Amino acid sequence: MLPLMITLFYPPACYTPLFLYKMFIIIHIGNIYLCTQSQDKGACNDMYNNVKHFINGEWVESTGNETIDVINPATEEKMGTISAGTEEDLDKAVQAARKAFPSFSNTTREERVKLLDRIADEYEKRKDDFIKVITQELGSPVTFTEKTQYEMGLRHFRETAKILRDFEFTEQREGSFIQKDAIGVSGLITPWNFPTNQLSTKLASAIAAGSTVILKPASQTPYAAMLVAEVFEAAGVPKGVFNLVNGSGSKIGNAISSHPDIDFVSFTGSGGVGTKIMENAAQDITKVSLELGGKSPIIILDDADVKYAARNAITNIAANTGQVCTAGTRALVPASMHDEFIEAIKELLPEFPVGDPQDKNTFTGPQVSEEQWNTVQDYIQKGIDSGATLVAGGTGKPDGLETGFYSKLTVFTDVNRDDTIAQEEIFGPVLSVITYNDLDEAIEIANDTIYGLAGYVVGENPETLTKAAKGIRAGRITVNDGKADFSAPFGGFGQSGIGREWGDYGIEEFLEPKTILGLPN
Ligand code: NAP
Repeated sequence: MLPLMITLFYPPACYTPLFLYKMFIIIHIGNIYLCTQSQDKGACNDMYNNVKHFINGEWVESTGNETIDVINPATEEKMGTISAGTEEDLDKAVQAARKAFPSFSNTTREERVKLLDRIADEYEKRKDDFIKVITQELGSPVTFTEKTQYEMGLRHFRETAKILRDFEFTEQREGSFIQKDAIGVSGLITPWNFPTNQLSTKLASAIAAGSTVILKPASQTPYAAMLVAEVFEAAGVPKGVFNLVNGSGSKIGNAISSHPDIDFVSFTGSGGVGTKIMENAAQDITKVSLELGGKSPIIILDDADVKYAARNAITNIAANTGQVCTAGTRALVPASMHDEFIEAIKELLPEFPVGDPQDKNTFTGPQVSEEQWNTVQDYIQKGIDSGATLVAGGTGKPDGLETGFYSKLTVFTDVNRDDTIAQEEIFGPVLSVITYNDLDEAIEIANDTIYGLAGYVVGENPETLTKAAKGIRAGRITVNDGKADFSAPFGGFGQSGIGREWGDYGIEEFLEPKTILGLPN
């Protein structure tokens, strides 16, 4: 038990499936504190009716009257309303960020380290609120919200502050002096699946670099971002450095990516929207960073423990209801191990209950929205139509879960590597099992994708583990239950994106290197 408890104190990311399983087991047997926030909105009531934006250090009315309803995916009920911001609202935020930029970009590294420390401290003070809000708006199971969603947001602020202490903004070379300047006003557009992780890595890097920002969070999960605005206010972030404008992607997101006074757009989301953002930004040659989707492989080696491998594969699709960009959704299994692997999957699936996110025993909650539920259902039907064998799950809702956007944990085998369900990102709890005959073939199948965000390798032999890990062309490979490292770069190859986040690589994205020649000493 001790190693498991130690792991709990250093929770890595959602991206390490076995960790999640261990965490669940510990919580399941009731050894640790559990958040019991219920449907009671309590202190968050005001926020759930807040139709203002946070611009230039204060909450301001929108210049328009339109609003967007926010739906609790577990109850299908409206939990609140946000402003559907206008382009005028965005303009105000851009002007505030531009005005704040000259002085903020000239703050010292030490001042920004202290600011990040204060932000992290204030973030920690709001722990219960973050857990309550994310569990309700995303339908993320309460234990997962606490140990992963909440924790990841905090880790980015803490780790970035640590890295900033030694970050070099200048470099004296023999023939030149290089200085890294803050890039300027940055537009941040974030998705719903990790409401604090995505925005905190971007915000921490921007603050570290001395850039000012406008954040547009996903319309489905805006409240965690609004809590972050309160955190920034409490931490004393200077006026105009951080601005939040709520609204639809088609209006506010689109306006951010085409705004002439925005110097950098940092986007996390789908490839389709990423393409639009790049097209818009190209008009003014605005720099973009894109963190997009994935279809990540899990290579299970022939010496792997079958139960461990099956657990790893199920956790990959069950965590966060499969709504994880780095989820391993293609299990590549040696043909000789196939039957045993499928039996292990069937045996272990009941240990991953789908249900109410407020229940501490729930491992998998609902999809974030009806739209996402329909998408997942369509893919499951496509899998059935393609002739793949359904091992578990299927279309429809799990028994007893008629209300809420719940899907069944679904496992297909006999999947061909070029089937739609083996090629396209589903973003739901659906696993495709594909067999291989030797390691070279496994690596070839792993790389037979337009994506390259993550990969997983499960096995024992150090040589084959290393060959497989180095052979996968993707930005983040996890060997067995390797832990997340918040100082290491995060991002993808191919259509998984452009650029890197987290740690020093993340800070670099918000900087422009300048070479000065002939500078007198
Ligand atoms: P999405 O539909 O692309 O939306 C992401 C963000 O973009 C939201 O804030 C959305 O606003 C906004 N948006 C929508 N249309 C826009 C437009 N025309 N111009 C500018 N912004 C626009 O993605 P999602 O469904 O929220 O998230 C799921 C996707 O994100 C998956 O593909 C997943 O793999 C990817 N993802 C990648 C990473 C990574 O780090 N690589 C991490 C997490 C998720 P609205 O909410 O108002 O529509």
